[in-house]
Amino acid sequence: MIATEFRVDIPLWVVSEVEAAGRVLPTLEQRMALVNRLADRNFREGGGGPFAAIVVEQATGRLISAGVNRVLASHLSVSHAEVVALSLAQCTRGTWDLGASGAPRTELVVNWRPCLQCCGAALWAGVSHLVIPDDSDQMEGITGFDEGPVGEEWISQFEARGISVTKGIGVSEAIQVFQNYAEHVAKGCAVLYNARGTGTNA
Ligand SMILES: [Zn+2]
Repeated sequence: MIATEFRVDIPLWVVSEVEAAGRVLPTLEQRMALVNRLADRNFREGGGGPFAAIVVEQATGRLISAGVNRVLASHLSVSHAEVVALSLAQCTRGTWDLGASGAPRTELVVNWRPCLQCCGAALWAGVSHLVIPDDSDQMEGITGFDEGPVGEEWISQFEARGISVTKGIGVSEAIQVFQNYAEHVAKGCAVLYNARGTGTNA
């Protein structure tokens, strides 16, 4: 029998962190602070890498969904934080288009520039705004993750599709999370999973 479904979930500690933060986050700094906190806890909990994302109503900051990287827990390479958060937001709204007319505009907040896969996921999800700390190669340099060949013009590609991009939010906190992760890997406490040959069938 071939597989007929796949499933990704988020652990209950994410729900607890979201409830503790409050369901409405008026400022970009508050939204990013939650994302950085989720990212830092995620690798320590063992479900995946140091990445988290939330989807909020852009104008009010009312939280719609939260996602963390679940690659290790789900055994699925696509289970990046952005894909998880966007998918859960779409489940909540019951539509594949978060930009459907009549609904409040949505914002994706992530703790670094999305990888090649997640740039695509964000472009097709219907969000109106993306918030990140930065898009430099600093994260890859610290953690060793390969984010894929995202073009230099990625922001203009987002803007051409009606998605504005804000950088410069929570930068030092994001860098600290990646440094924490790198130390965790160096101590043998986590698997840097993106390299070929590190999967369970390697
Ligand atoms: Zn990704």
